[in-house]
This record gives sequence, structure tokens and C-alpha cells, in this order.
Amino acid sequence: MKLYIVATPIGNLEDFTFRAISTLKSVDLIAAEDTRHSRTLMQHYGIETPLVAYHDHNETEASEGLVAQMQQGTSIALISDAGTPLISDPGYRLVKLARRVGIEVVTIPGPSAVTAALSISGLPTDRFLFVGFLPSKRQARQKTLKALSKEAATLVCYESRHRIQDSLRDMALVLGPGRQATVARELTKRFEQSRQGTLGELCEAVDNNEIVAKGEFVVVIEGSPAETPIYDHVALMQALLVELPPRKAAGIVSQVTGESRKTLYDIAVILKSG
Ligand code: SAM
Repeated sequence: MKLYIVATPIGNLEDFTFRAISTLKSVDLIAAEDTRHSRTLMQHYGIETPLVAYHDHNETEASEGLVAQMQQGTSIALISDAGTPLISDPGYRLVKLARRVGIEVVTIPGPSAVTAALSISGLPTDRFLFVGFLPSKRQARQKTLKALSKEAATLVCYESRHRIQDSLRDMALVLGPGRQATVARELTKRFEQSRQGTLGELCEAVDNNEIVAKGEFVVVIEGSPAETPIYDHVALMQALLVELPPRKAAGIVSQVTGESRKTLYDIAVILKSG
């Protein structure tokens, strides 16, 4: 018997593959994250296969039960509320257990918010790191972002409407306000919106309600730029200030490091006064 992992639409009901529909019609049982939610989709496509609940809270026992049924000849498909199962959604335990006992696991691929957002982001797609949801608490979120700050691959994060504003602010704070990013909201749905800009600009856009903090979000962020030499601007300025006036020292350090003359002059003034 086989276990089918079936992707469903992330909004627009027409984004459902022929193969997904025929698979869901032909299996004996559909394991669904939320059976009530999935019934709408099933009804829309005339799928009458029985649904059984499989979610975060019953993953372990449900996996064992489903695997036992498959071993007795029942064919099962797993779906989640939207998109591809197992992508920030339940299913890992079921697939792991099914494989362990030798059940063939088959993918019926389709939409996922990760690939949908990435493909329209305008950011490099050759290498990307899917981060899922960042921690909800500020301190933990900043720590996670710090650990990702040197990552060269494009980053893809899921976010909810409750936290999009705070998350973007932390991203700008930890990764730098100048990093390019794209916020994709409500993809394939009526109020779909996507906007590219620096993290600083995107924060402002949410603050001004130009990006509406409603619905579902994906944030795609440019990876860390190639390692640039790290200069200790303060030490350089300190050394030069022994011999040179602030303006001159700032000019030289600016030429060497690429840092703005004004910023360096401000550092010089602070150093002189300290
Ligand atoms: N399994 C799904 C997938 O393949 O994309 C993801 C499920 S996860 C629980 C839900 C999150 O995915 C949302 O909070 C949001 O970050 C993202 N998401 C799902 N649908 C989306 C959409 N239509 N537009 C933007 N983001 C979406």
C-alpha cells in the first residue's frame, strides 16, 4: 500500500492539480489536518473519500493507527489545510514511520507558499534557506535572526498577521535596514499583495498600512552579502586622531573602509570629547 502526500491550494481553489484530485478520489482514506476546513475543498471537487483527523495534537498516535491501516491494505492520502503537507505542517512522523515499515511514500506535488513567494521575490533563488516561522518572543526571534545574519543564501520566513510588524522590525534591526526583501501577502487570494524594498522601507510600509497587516505572509530576505573586510573604524580613527584633525582623519578612514565620511566625523567628535 502507498501513502500519498498531496499538496492542496494555498488560496485559489483552481490551483489544484488533476493528479491531486484523482488521487484523493481513488484512495480509501484522507488524513487531514482539519477535516472541517478540508471538506469545503472536497465538496468543490466532488471528492467523497472519508476524512480522518491528523494534526499536531494527535500526530504520534494517529501515525501509528494510519500505518497499521496501510499495512492491512488501506491506501491513504495526507493533506494539510493549505499547500504542501510537512512544510510547517504536520506529517513528518507519519512519513518517517511509513518509511520505517517499508510503505512506499509518493508525492503529489503542488502549491507551497515558500516556492510561490520565492519565485516572485526578485531575489536570488539558486540557494535559499527556509526558516519556517521565527520564534514568537522578541528575544528568541532576535537570537535566531542573529544566527542567520551571515547566511549567504536567500532566507524565506513564514509570518502571521499578528507578528509581521514586530518581525520586520527585528529583521531590520538584526540583519540591517538596508537588506533587500520581499513581503508576499495572501498569495493567490483576493487581497494578494507583494512588495520589494529594503527591510527599513518594508517596516515603514507596514507602519503606514501600505502593506496591510492582515492575512498570511511570507518574507523573503536577501542573503548576507559576500564577506567584506571588517574594519575597526573606532581603532583606526583613534590612531589617526593622534596626528590629524577630525575632518582629515575621517576622510582617510572613509577612503580605506568605504564608511561614510559623516559617520566617521561623528565618531571622531565623540572620541575627541571622551
Ligand atoms: N504547508 C503550507 C505551505 O506549503 O506553504 C504552509 C502552512 S503554514 C501552517 C501557514 C503559513 O504559510 C502562513 O502563516 C503563511 O506564513 C504561509 N502561507 C500560507 N498560505 C499563504 C498565502 N496564500 N500567502 C502568503 N503566505 C501563505
